[in-house]
Amino acid sequence: MSRRPELLIPIVFEAGNTAKRNVASWRSNRPLIERGLCTNCLICWIYCPEPAIYLDDAGNVQIDYDHCKGCGICAEECPRKAIRMVVENV
Ligand code: SF4
Ligand code: SF4
Repeated sequence: MSRRPELLIPIVFEAGNTAKRNVASWRSNRPLIERGLCTNCLICWIYCPEPAIYLDDAGNVQIDYDHCKGCGICAEECPRKAIRMVVENV
């Protein structure tokens, strides 16, 4: 039997299981999309390390905050600067 370190959950033990994990509690800042600037180009989706960016039924980019850990990569990579990071209200 494998022995696992006792760390706070959520934690990822298996490859490809991040979609099952709620990482919202990891976040100290959250991304907000400025609709007037976003062109739905999906570059943020390419760079996001989590399954946290998706297109809604209307074709607009959305953030899934259950799977967003607040790393800010999307805001850094957006060519339109359409994502800004704001302090998480807890
Ligand atoms: S990279 Fe920026 S402009 Fe492109 S979809 Fe994401 S938020 Fe919108
Ligand atoms: S902050 Fe990080 S995890 Fe959250 S949507 Fe942006 S790139 Fe993905």
